[in-house]
Amino acid sequence: MNVHSLVSDTFIIDGDAYPALDKPLQPNWIAAAARAGFDLIGRARDRYHGVLRCRTCATDALVRINVIRDATPLCHACIHDRRSRAAQALGAELVAKCPEHRHYGLFRLPCGHVVRSQYTRVEAAADGGHALGCEDCRAARDDEAARDFGWVLVGPATSGRAGYRDYRHHCGHVQSISVSNMRWGDCTCAACGQGWAAKPSFIYLFRIDLPEMSVLKLGYSARPAKRLRHQLGLDRSVSAEVIRVLALSSGNLAVREEKACHRHMRNMHPELVLPKRVFGDAIKTQGEIYHLRAEPLLHALIDGVTARFRSAADHPSRSTAPKATDARRDTRPD
Ligand SMILES: [Zn+2]
Ligand SMILES: [Zn+2]
Ligand SMILES: [Zn+2]
Repeated sequence: MNVHSLVSDTFIIDGDAYPALDKPLQPNWIAAAARAGFDLIGRARDRYHGVLRCRTCATDALVRINVIRDATPLCHACIHDRRSRAAQALGAELVAKCPEHRHYGLFRLPCGHVVRSQYTRVEAAADGGHALGCEDCRAARDDEAARDFGWVLVGPATSGRAGYRDYRHHCGHVQSISVSNMRWGDCTCAACGQGWAAKPSFIYLFRIDLPEMSVLKLGYSARPAKRLRHQLGLDRSVSAEVIRVLALSSGNLAVREEKACHRHMRNMHPELVLPKRVFGDAIKTQGEIYHLRAEPLLHALIDGVTARFRSAADHPSRSTAPKATDARRDTRPD
């Protein structure tokens, strides 16, 4: 048996050239390498190392003879490929190894944030068809959802309960609330007893004059004026006004109708929906910002809400669809 048939003069490993050493390859090493999916193709660097070529990806690696003989060598190129493919399946990119921990890599997510994540978790997510969540983006969304109901996100739940976060009510009280309940304002403050879902709420339309451009924001809030003045992080020099508010009998109704308006805009008029990168940090919100040209469409949508809402309330007489101007009368948001 010609054990030297695969031997080269020089091996290129990780970009470095290693002259082949004229040393024997023992049949039991060759057999052990084969069982692990490699060809033992020579010896290099020193008498302790052999060169393995992966039978899957043909990458050469320097591996200690005792590892070849007594353990199961792994192909790091194949492992890296597998992890990169898992990341790609999730729309992410494996950008580097984590310098502190060999089980973790740094991944760039579709949103642009780079997160440290365990390789096995990324691969499990890819296998299971799950998304790789971004903590930063999620915290920003959770906080924004909470602000609509008079709460701010403090951080992870001190109780450690899954699906819960700690929120601070405008009265100062901090409470653990499930994220899904908060998304619908379905929570009552244990300190001041104020719930939100069953109380009147408002769909609002703001105009915000940023230095570069004027934009519109459609949303819902129990206190639209306060939302505009204090919760959007607008610079003092930015002028902004409440163009319209529509009072609805409950927070739940306001949330539902508002979400339907956004859905309509995304589906039917995506060109009028401004992405976050356009207004950036000038408005502390993740979305729901529209081009000024969208104003008539947004008014029409709010008119539609008014009509649905009124016709439901005045069910017996069907001729009560209000004129748009009815809904534009002043309401007192605070
Ligand atoms: Zn390989
Ligand atoms: Zn993100
Ligand atoms: Zn409270």
